[in-house]
Amino acid sequence: MKILVTGGAGYIGSHICKELKKNGFDPIVFDNLSNGYKKFVKWGKFIKGDLKKVSDFKKIKKIKFKGVIHLASNIEVGESYKDPTKFYLNNVTGSINLLEFIRLNKIKNFIFSSTAAVYGELKDNSKPIKENFHKEPISPYGKSKLFVERILEDYSDIYGINFCIFRYFNASGADSDVEIGESHIPETHLVPNVINACEMNKLVKVFGNNYKTKDGTCMRDYVHVSDLAEAHVKGLKKLIKNNLKKKNYFNLGSGKTYSVLEVINAVSDYKKKKVKFKYVKNRFGDPSILMSNIDRAKKILNWTPKRSNIENIVKTSYQWYLKNNI
Ligand code: UDP
Repeated sequence: MKILVTGGAGYIGSHICKELKKNGFDPIVFDNLSNGYKKFVKWGKFIKGDLKKVSDFKKIKKIKFKGVIHLASNIEVGESYKDPTKFYLNNVTGSINLLEFIRLNKIKNFIFSSTAAVYGELKDNSKPIKENFHKEPISPYGKSKLFVERILEDYSDIYGINFCIFRYFNASGADSDVEIGESHIPETHLVPNVINACEMNKLVKVFGNNYKTKDGTCMRDYVHVSDLAEAHVKGLKKLIKNNLKKKNYFNLGSGKTYSVLEVINAVSDYKKKKVKFKYVKNRFGDPSILMSNIDRAKKILNWTPKRSNIENIVKTSYQWYLKNNI
């Protein structure tokens, strides 16, 4: 069964392709390589294509796809404030073009990679976030993802497309075989930044220590990328077997949170080396706490984030860092 994976050359997409292949699917990667790497496409065919260019869809029009997993998008929140046009063109226009392709080719099963950023700043962030919580994204990035969720709902109602929307919390870690991992340029994410600081004997910048949290630094819910990949394949199988509703929404997180300082300590503990840091001013738009409630994914998909403890996230990220940088 052929599955179209947009953004399949990226960090999360490549882990999903590996999991698809392991489960007997045939992933076909469609990626413009703006943030992905050809060398990450190891488990299926690669087609260079840009979702913004309708003519690029000609390259895949003869292939019979059983489903689509749509990840291709810009993801860096800070960048979305500087260049919202880029985000709306790539994330929204690109998704509409893809949905048109799906409608015209009568593909019924669709998985969309969304984000916890669709929820925005909550009035009470002491409670884990459930899928039905109020959605008021702050950043152009979060808004672009919520717009696509809404468009997808119309496509489902009117054209009969069945979907799973997965809202990721903090994707992290790397494949346990160390074949693929996180490689953003520039790297902005906490775990790879702390590892880099540890190896290079540099200071990690901690963005703010005046949040209402136990140590004043932001708390996040880190979920291992291979756990994310597993959820996608479980969702896809159920969509194909008609074992889900038409419209499905799942948070994907670990259900636990760690502060920035706790992540730094986890890296220190793994390497048995003190990682130095300095406080700098808060990063614009950072909510103090983001914690998922993942009961729905556990119950309906029979999914557990079994690789998502912080020790395993740090270990696999570190192995990947060393493979690439030493
Ligand atoms: N962070 C930090 N220093 C860094 C990178 C991130 O203090 O070099 C903080 C950031 O402010 C946030 C948390 O670490 O509170 C996770 O940030 P990341 O960019 O990894 O993911 P996000 O939560 O923005 O999706």
